[in-house]
Amino acid sequence: MAGKTMRRVQEGEVPLDGGTAVQDDPGRPVFRGNGENDYLCVECGNLLASGMNPEHMGKRVRIRCGRCRTVNIAAEVPVEMARRRL
Ligand SMILES: [Zn+2]
Repeated sequence: MAGKTMRRVQEGEVPLDGGTAVQDDPGRPVFRGNGENDYLCVECGNLLASGMNPEHMGKRVRIRCGRCRTVNIAAEVPVEMARRRL
Protein backbone atom coordinates (compact mmCIF):
# COMPACT_ATOMS: atom_id res chain seq x y z
CA MET A 1 0.00 0.00 0.00
CA ALA A 2 1.29 3.45 -0.86
CA GLY A 3 1.74 6.02 1.88
CA LYS A 4 0.72 9.52 0.93
CA THR A 5 1.63 12.52 2.99
CA MET A 6 -1.17 15.03 3.30
CA ARG A 7 -0.74 18.78 3.53
CA ARG A 8 -1.56 21.35 6.15
CA VAL A 9 -4.79 23.27 5.70
CA GLN A 10 -3.68 26.87 5.29
CA GLU A 11 -4.94 29.74 7.33
CA GLY A 12 -7.72 31.54 5.47
CA GLU A 13 -8.41 28.59 3.27
CA VAL A 14 -12.09 28.37 2.58
CA PRO A 15 -13.91 26.13 5.04
CA LEU A 16 -15.89 23.67 2.99
CA ASP A 17 -18.88 21.81 4.20
CA GLY A 18 -18.14 18.37 5.43
CA GLY A 19 -16.29 19.46 8.52
CA THR A 20 -13.12 18.14 10.03
CA ALA A 21 -12.74 14.60 11.24
CA VAL A 22 -10.96 14.50 14.58
CA GLN A 23 -8.67 11.64 15.34
CA ASP A 24 -9.38 10.73 18.96
CA ASP A 25 -6.84 7.97 19.20
CA PRO A 26 -3.46 8.66 17.58
CA GLY A 27 -2.94 4.93 17.26
CA ARG A 28 -5.93 4.44 15.01
CA PRO A 29 -6.68 5.90 11.59
CA VAL A 30 -9.91 7.91 11.40
CA PHE A 31 -10.90 6.22 8.17
CA ARG A 32 -10.32 2.67 7.17
CA GLY A 33 -11.12 1.27 3.78
CA ASN A 34 -10.02 -1.14 1.12
CA GLY A 35 -8.44 1.39 -1.17
CA GLU A 36 -4.91 1.83 -2.36
CA ASN A 37 -3.38 4.53 -0.16
CA ASP A 38 -2.51 5.32 3.41
CA TYR A 39 -2.68 9.00 4.32
CA LEU A 40 -0.14 10.42 6.72
CA CYS A 41 0.03 13.61 8.78
CA VAL A 42 2.27 16.21 7.15
CA GLU A 43 3.65 17.28 10.50
CA CYS A 44 4.40 14.10 12.41
CA GLY A 45 3.82 11.30 9.92
CA ASN A 46 1.06 9.70 11.96
CA LEU A 47 -1.33 7.44 10.06
CA LEU A 48 -4.63 9.30 9.66
CA ALA A 49 -6.51 7.26 7.08
CA SER A 50 -5.84 3.77 5.89
CA GLY A 51 -6.83 2.09 2.65
CA MET A 52 -8.43 5.10 1.03
CA ASN A 53 -8.72 5.86 -2.66
CA PRO A 54 -7.93 9.38 -3.91
CA GLU A 55 -11.56 9.97 -4.85
CA HIS A 56 -12.53 9.51 -1.22
CA MET A 57 -10.01 12.06 -0.04
CA GLY A 58 -11.35 15.13 -1.79
CA LYS A 59 -11.59 18.68 -0.58
CA ARG A 60 -14.38 17.90 1.87
CA VAL A 61 -12.19 15.57 3.85
CA ARG A 62 -10.06 17.13 6.54
CA ILE A 63 -8.49 15.27 9.40
CA ARG A 64 -7.16 16.72 12.62
CA CYS A 65 -4.19 14.67 13.72
CA GLY A 66 -4.65 13.13 17.15
CA ARG A 67 -0.96 13.44 17.92
CA CYS A 68 0.03 16.95 16.85
CA ARG A 69 -3.36 18.62 16.19
CA THR A 70 -2.46 19.65 12.66
CA VAL A 71 -5.45 19.78 10.34
CA ASN A 72 -4.60 17.84 7.20
CA ILE A 73 -6.12 17.68 3.76
CA ALA A 74 -5.09 15.55 0.78
CA ALA A 75 -2.07 17.06 -0.95
CA GLU A 76 -3.82 16.79 -4.31
CA VAL A 77 -6.51 19.24 -3.24
CA PRO A 78 -5.61 22.74 -4.48
CA VAL A 79 -5.49 25.59 -1.98
CA GLU A 80 -8.64 27.66 -2.23
CA MET A 81 -8.54 30.84 -0.29
CA ALA A 82 -11.70 32.25 1.21
CA ARG A 83 -12.12 35.29 -0.95
CA ARG A 84 -15.69 34.91 -2.06
CA ARG A 85 -18.78 34.19 -0.08
CA LEU A 86 -22.01 32.78 -1.35
ZN1 LIG B 1 0.36 14.89 13.24
